[in-house]
Amino acid sequence: MTNLSLLILPGDGIGPEVMAEVRKIIDWYGTKRGVTFDVTEDLVGGCAYDKYGTPLHDDTMAKAQAVDAVLLGAVGGPKYDNLDFSVKPERGLLRLRKEMDLFANLRPAQCFDALADFSSLKKDVVAGLDIMIVRELTSGIYFGEPRGIFKEGNERVGINTQRYTESEIERVARAAFELARKRGNKVCSMEKANVMESGILWREVVTEVHAKDYADVELSHMYADAGAMQLCRWPKQFDVIVTDNLFGDLLSDAAAMLTGSLGMLPSASLGAPMASGRPKALYEPVHGSAPDIAGQGKANPIACVLSFAMALRYSFDMGAEADRVEKAVEKVLADGLRTADLLGEEGVTPVSTGEMGDAIVAALDASL
Ligand code: NAD
Repeated sequence: MTNLSLLILPGDGIGPEVMAEVRKIIDWYGTKRGVTFDVTEDLVGGCAYDKYGTPLHDDTMAKAQAVDAVLLGAVGGPKYDNLDFSVKPERGLLRLRKEMDLFANLRPAQCFDALADFSSLKKDVVAGLDIMIVRELTSGIYFGEPRGIFKEGNERVGINTQRYTESEIERVARAAFELARKRGNKVCSMEKANVMESGILWREVVTEVHAKDYADVELSHMYADAGAMQLCRWPKQFDVIVTDNLFGDLLSDAAAMLTGSLGMLPSASLGAPMASGRPKALYEPVHGSAPDIAGQGKANPIACVLSFAMALRYSFDMGAEADRVEKAVEKVLADGLRTADLLGEEGVTPVSTGEMGDAIVAALDASL
């Protein structure tokens, strides 16, 4: 493997369409910047099931473990809805996350000025917003034991268990502090230490990690319910928010929608550092395979393009190039280009997936 190895898994539905636009940017880096990625492409999801009878072949899993970063499009579609649970397209994605032990899920909420009117909040509350939610992804109440539905006397009882070890909290806290150092240098940790012992431990461990190794980063704590309120009231007060699996699930969805369309939202999931010092990493748009628009050239490729920008920043230490890609996206939006999901203003004709990708590449050219 070379230094910049990337496994691309376009997946199903609009996955291959949006990934084709990222390939244009990867090619641009090769021809215009002399940055060559060692790209391998493979199957995941329904298309892998069609070919191999499994949504993620063992060989593909092995490749994912060996590369510097994995970039995934989307999986799923109505054709696969009636498959057995064990071979559903989503199982391929879950296997990747589990076997790569991707414990930190990064969900940025970034509002491009040109799209501030799309938010359900007032323009001045969201314009220029740039926050990052770090959600613990592999532990907590979605995994804790005991769990199940049990008989208790004459009725049933449903049980899930919130459980966090110190080391699980410590590693996600470290991920958040490291990220903050590459951004606005502020972390707000959210839990419910007022009513949950796991929250008390969470607050203690985050505080200890901070004092020991990250005293240069500004740290604050907030109860997660108050945090939800503050996210709607004045989200720009935050830089990095670190929280557990359940609260992160809710808070990251709420924060994401501050910024408008699903077609705009990237994500990253990071694991432990590899021998290279880089974290194991999977980058993917938040949206699914959008079967309702697949094959029509209507998909917005920006979420996938911004996921690639995250890979540049967090896997390849190319923060300035990540800025360049994000600025190119900002420019095409400021120029008025809109895919169909971003329509709202009168008199705007939507551009196709390919036209949006070409415009981003042209904006990259203009940045040189
Ligand atoms: P979805 O995200 O695919 O689509 C929801 C709505 O948003 C649709 O109207 C769609 O057209 C629109 N949309 C999504 N991405 C868009 C884009 N880039 N540009 C323009 N419009 C976009 O969610 P869904 O409809 O609930 O699920 C469809 C399939 O995707 C299901 O099989 C589901 O299981 C799967 N899914 C996969 C992932 C993933 O791969 N990570 C995530 C969510 C859903």
